[in-house]
Amino acid sequence: MTLPDATVTGTVFLKPKRAQPFFGRHPWVFAGAIDRVEGAPADGAIVDLRSSAGNFVARGAFNSQSKIRVRLYSWEEAETLDRAFFSRQLDQAIALRHEVLHLHTGPDAAYRVVFSESDRLSGLVVDRFGDWLTVQFTSLALAQRRQMIAELLQEKLRVRGVYLRTERGIGQLEGIEQHDGPILGETPPDEVIFTEHFGLRFAVNLTEGQKTGYYLDQRDNRATVSRLAVGRRVLDAFCYSGGFGIYAAKGGAQEVLCVDASEAALQLAQRNAVLNGLSQLTFQHADVFHHLGDLAAAGRKFDLIILDPPKFARNRAAIPKALQGYRKLHQQALRLLERGGLLVSCCCTGLITAETLEDLIAQVAMDAKRDVQILERRGPAPDHPVAISCRESGYLKCLITRVG
Ligand code: SAH
Repeated sequence: MTLPDATVTGTVFLKPKRAQPFFGRHPWVFAGAIDRVEGAPADGAIVDLRSSAGNFVARGAFNSQSKIRVRLYSWEEAETLDRAFFSRQLDQAIALRHEVLHLHTGPDAAYRVVFSESDRLSGLVVDRFGDWLTVQFTSLALAQRRQMIAELLQEKLRVRGVYLRTERGIGQLEGIEQHDGPILGETPPDEVIFTEHFGLRFAVNLTEGQKTGYYLDQRDNRATVSRLAVGRRVLDAFCYSGGFGIYAAKGGAQEVLCVDASEAALQLAQRNAVLNGLSQLTFQHADVFHHLGDLAAAGRKFDLIILDPPKFARNRAAIPKALQGYRKLHQQALRLLERGGLLVSCCCTGLITAETLEDLIAQVAMDAKRDVQILERRGPAPDHPVAISCRESGYLKCLITRVG
């Protein structure tokens, strides 16, 4: 495949009065805002975005196959979107993680290196797990430039391998043909071990695990839960690789029950408990929606419950059903919570706002006649920043409450 070059091969003109969000640096130009395209840009080629009056707005990459017709990368007319440009963007992303957040604490640290729109690299996500990088492309233009991006990452971070992960469905949305596999260097072994807060170690399978293998966005929320867990009976619902449960055990929880519907996830969680020499954990292979009811029927009580379900809605039409799911979970959790117990409500459905989540909990609390105090309103760890111009990237809510 020849590398698409940085030459501007077309101009996209906006409809009248549609330029403001893009002057405001929102990076997604949907088809509906576009008046016409001049030139014949190939998919993935560089184009300029101009207002209906013909003023330069920004420069980005064109894709006729995506609803996001143009993804914007630069707002400087003099800037070329070449290798040097992407190198500079990556430098800025890395500087945030290394020099500001000090997340590169050692050779086995794990953190998100690049977070798409939030790092002005729309469609690129890079996670580091020690010596290995996983990359995900949700932009055709960047997927076409994958070799260059992998080389730049390798120059800057000196890892053993850069491995491509693909999210199901995304390829179709953008017209990207891609398959999981190494882009550069070696393929990661089946088990990669990295270290998080408190010296906790986690094993991850980067070639088969969910998402990019591990949920790095919850790192600091887990640390907070760890500090709250001492002496408590803990339920980690939707535990995946055991993140919250293991942090809770490390923090001195009396016992921890981890529940997940995936056998592979539970095996990983068990492995992680062993890796950290923690023995208070038990594991249950079950559907959380059913199991919480079973636990309540059996008269079980907990002093700390973590609810961290997967994304329940991918589009607006799915929101009512998603809210029903969250409501059911919270109703069940309140039944299981001892008086004065703590509830950690996570919601990674971007379309559901923090306010909506709080309203829902307020309703459930009212129905159950329980007092609920918000202790902390948290979000993702800061290696998952939110661009103020594209707040859609702030998807994760983590609300910590005390239930009387
Ligand atoms: N808390 C985890 C991440 C959870 S991801 C962490 O900190 O790493 C969501 C998890 O929910 C996945 O592991 C998935 O297998 C599980 N899951 C999805 N639907 C489920 C259901 N109905 N019952 C139990 N687990 C479910």
